[in-house]
Amino acid sequence: MTTLAADALANANVLDLVPYQPGKPIEELVRERGIPAEQIVKLASNENPLGMSPKARAAAEAALAEGERYPEQFDLAAAIAAHCGVHAAQVLLGNGSNDILDFVARVFLRQGDESVISQYAFLVYELATRAAGATPVFVPATPGYGHDLDGMLAAITPKTRVLWIANPNNPTGTFIPYAEIKSFLAQVPQRVIVVLDEAYYEYLPPAQREDTTKWLADFPNLVLTRTFSKVYGLAGLRVGYGLMHPQLAGLLNRVRPPFNVNRMGGAAAVAALGDATFVAQSYACNIAGRTQLVVGFADLGMETIGNEGNFITFKVADAAAVNERLLARGIIVRPLVNYGLAEFLRVTIGTKSENVRFLAALGACLEKH
Ligand SMILES: *Cc1c(COP(=O)(O)O)cnc(C)c1O
Repeated sequence: MTTLAADALANANVLDLVPYQPGKPIEELVRERGIPAEQIVKLASNENPLGMSPKARAAAEAALAEGERYPEQFDLAAAIAAHCGVHAAQVLLGNGSNDILDFVARVFLRQGDESVISQYAFLVYELATRAAGATPVFVPATPGYGHDLDGMLAAITPKTRVLWIANPNNPTGTFIPYAEIKSFLAQVPQRVIVVLDEAYYEYLPPAQREDTTKWLADFPNLVLTRTFSKVYGLAGLRVGYGLMHPQLAGLLNRVRPPFNVNRMGGAAAVAALGDATFVAQSYACNIAGRTQLVVGFADLGMETIGNEGNFITFKVADAAAVNERLLARGIIVRPLVNYGLAEFLRVTIGTKSENVRFLAALGACLEKH
């Protein structure tokens, strides 16, 4: 191939980007180590261990029959609006909620602007910020690895245009009480867009969950993001959404690629909203699995961080080596070196039997060395 001075052609900020590292796919472990796929347990990407709702699967399969037609997205936006109790004009569809994060950055950030991010917050905030040419400003986490809201307030400057909060946060599983977020929002200048990423909202105990969509009336600078990738089990179909003031939705909609939610994903998502039984099963599976893992970690004498989502981040001094040994046993978890958490690994809460296998393998990996 002829050489091309590609770097000289690209926007300078792109050269500094490090691509997002997803959890290792099962297929890759099969290729690398010849471990049969059915012996592999993937607990690396916070996917739903129960799969997806049978109704969602049937809807996706039915939609495939019309795969030659561009998707029609009215039904999905209407279903989300009804589910969340907002107007359809407040709903913005994303190819995963990651899409919404990107739209926010593209619409509100450019070179010279700043976005405020907590240390250990979801990595996509930094990526989206840098891709837009703006500067991420990191605020040190609390001693418990969570967001320091006072610190984030103090980090706002005249250049700040966006501030990101993940609640619960991935990968730390930390949770900020809603009362604190609400009083924080009241102090953030309205010229700063606040993104409240609620990817794990449905995993919170109902009594702990607050209907944050009610806040949209008071805070026109607030963008809520939610996803079908986690409790609804549609990660592979890529459907997420943002909820916000209709004027913000109108702005973000200008950079949204047409048809960013495909026909199968859209149909599956509508059906998933209609299957409360599956969501309840997924929630219950997560609660039981969380207890199982918390007890297991305690038995192994291991320290964990928060566990408010469908995953637990645990401390292990030689994380890289333990990760390698787990892989050799067919267990995929997530290293967090790129989060600056080199002594931690993150495990997604699996089914009962997956958790048993993980804990046994972890125990063996720690003992042997
Ligand atoms: C998983 C996750 C998302 C969204 O993923 P999508 O599949 O793009 O919807 C967003 N934020 C956080 C914190 C996540 O963990």
